[in-house]
Amino acid sequence: PLTTADLIEEHRICVCVRKRPLNKKELAMKDLDVITIPSKDVVMVHEPKQKVDLTRYLENQTFRFDYAFDDSSTNEMVYRFTARPLVETIFEKGMATCFAYGQTGSGKTHTMGGDFSGKNQDCSKGIYALAARDVFFMLKKPNYKKLDLQVYSTFFEIYSGKVFDLLNRKAKLRVLEDGKQQVQVVGLQEKEVKCTEDVLRLIEVGNSCRTSGQTSANAHSSRSHAVFQIIIRRKGKMHGKFSLIDLAGNERGADTSSADRQTRLEGAEINKSLLALKECIRALGRNKPHTPFRASKLTQVLRDSFIGENSRTCMIATISPGMTSCENTLNTLRYANRVK
Ligand code: ADP
Ligand code: MG
Repeated sequence: PLTTADLIEEHRICVCVRKRPLNKKELAMKDLDVITIPSKDVVMVHEPKQKVDLTRYLENQTFRFDYAFDDSSTNEMVYRFTARPLVETIFEKGMATCFAYGQTGSGKTHTMGGDFSGKNQDCSKGIYALAARDVFFMLKKPNYKKLDLQVYSTFFEIYSGKVFDLLNRKAKLRVLEDGKQQVQVVGLQEKEVKCTEDVLRLIEVGNSCRTSGQTSANAHSSRSHAVFQIIIRRKGKMHGKFSLIDLAGNERGADTSSADRQTRLEGAEINKSLLALKECIRALGRNKPHTPFRASKLTQVLRDSFIGENSRTCMIATISPGMTSCENTLNTLRYANRVK
């Protein structure tokens, strides 16, 4: 198991994979687990055990990441190795981003926002809330306490290239870029938060706003990116910002051949934004002067998080264990592999 000694502190980019357990539906249809995590940073995709010729697949179906979390891992543990180190970054005047990337149903929202299955919603165990908890914990430390910092949150979604404020009844917002290449989401509500409970309330407001009027929560969230931000200000000026993003389902990028025009356009937009995201993270990792942030609305609104000297990012690629998801899983692993 992972211990604190395994923490990789220095990386600007951390890429990890989280496997979820087989769910009831998959067990009922006798889907088989094709994912093995043999060590703390390796993911193997193989044929179901009874048919397997492991040697044949070992070469190209094995992936290495900073961390690989198996289906026994908890949100708290995933958090500790991914987003937790980035909380320090925003106190040191840095910009941090944390993405959940993967197929619909693979566990992005479970990881980021808490579990929303059924009636007993609980967002207090997701990475949004855990990060907020530690922000308020850090604020109490003497060297930060004396800075007199304030904390704010925003919560918005990007759907088909348009931005909607989840803390303001889904108001549609414009994105403007000024002469100095500063990107602004005009009118985005930034709510001051004084404690973890304040943040939990905002997450609940945003989550219910996100899904209201939808026939199914997943149908909508699979096509939109949700961005939750924790902003630290000092005397009104930005000190640091943490953006936590529950991305649209990556399988939606394949909707470009759908018969329905709207679905096709949405699929193309998702494709574009996930490709742009990959390029922006790669540019950040290579200290490249040119970040292609204008290629999509998602990367455009995150621009300041990709260019700063003290910018760090982590990606949590979530995967389903089942054979029926194998193709999507491989796509997810290949994408995550390329981000590095
Ligand atoms: P996504 O947001 O990627 O579409 P969800 O987070 O909604 O996927 O997860 C789909 C279902 O699987 C949910 O019912 C969720 O509670 C469950 N689930 C996801 N990840 C885990 C996990 N690591 N452990 C247990 N259940 C999980
Ligand atoms: Mg989701």
